[in-house]
Amino acid sequence: MLDFGMTRVVYDRVCLEHDTGEHPECAERVRRAEAWLRDPACRTEVTWHEARRATLADLERVHPAAHVERVRSLAADGGGRLDADTVASSASFEAATAGAGACLTAVDLALDEPGPLPFALVRPPGHHALADRAMGFCLFNNVAVAARHAQSRGREKIAIVDFDVHHGNGTEAIFYDDPSVLFVSSHQHPLYPGTGAAEDRGRGAGEGFTLNIPLEAGTTGPELLEALEREAAPAIERFAPDMLLVSAGFDAYRHDPLAQLAVDVDDFALIGTRLAEWARAFTSGLWMATLEGGYHLDDLPRCIEAFLAGSAAP
Ligand SMILES: [Zn+2]
Repeated sequence: MLDFGMTRVVYDRVCLEHDTGEHPECAERVRRAEAWLRDPACRTEVTWHEARRATLADLERVHPAAHVERVRSLAADGGGRLDADTVASSASFEAATAGAGACLTAVDLALDEPGPLPFALVRPPGHHALADRAMGFCLFNNVAVAARHAQSRGREKIAIVDFDVHHGNGTEAIFYDDPSVLFVSSHQHPLYPGTGAAEDRGRGAGEGFTLNIPLEAGTTGPELLEALEREAAPAIERFAPDMLLVSAGFDAYRHDPLAQLAVDVDDFALIGTRLAEWARAFTSGLWMATLEGGYHLDDLPRCIEAFLAGSAAP
């Protein structure tokens, strides 16, 4: 099999210049991940792809122009605080447009050049960002911008699976009344940001197109996988998406400093393999993934490696 063990990583080093100061969401996360993915000992063979920058038109499919301008002008003025735990530096607008742009490039790779999983290695993350404001370390909602881009390219029904340990409240809110996007989130509950109850299933025409899978502290990788298999797989199969997008956060990792799940490094490989199976079964292999959280600096590279290697398993 030609693409055995291979992955495609979409990247722009400008993401390292988003300077958050003393903060769990720091450049070192991605710097170390990049170094390990380039190391010959890495278990997956990576081809690197330059991220494009998201344009105002790309971002405005999700965010009002006023929000984009708020982030741009704050960065242009040297940076500052966007919410209690979300900061911008002078390079943050560039980094954030590259982050969303990497997701657009990943969608285009999936659509135009069939092959291994395109993974957007980005920061700032995106899934807490609401349409009209930054939140929870996130400036623009990268995966939501990617979903609208995929739709603009004729893939009408998009499934988003978010296995970050935190609820993807921004992504949920953006698509809450939209039946064209199925949003599935597994997350520790209760935990920041407090949303993501199982009863929250969408609104109006979007009723039934949000699926929250709250998990108790201490949930293990096999238990998480079992919950995804039991609840998410049938929902995605029934929805019959044209493309699968994955918000891949690695803070469900057992030693992550921001949460209390008990997922091991190798469990992320099993998650990657399972999602690859779903992509093949439900979307003819059209899928991409993007980095969300994951704050254990020493082990995040191994968690990403495991997920990518698992996604490329035959
Ligand atoms: Zn998270």
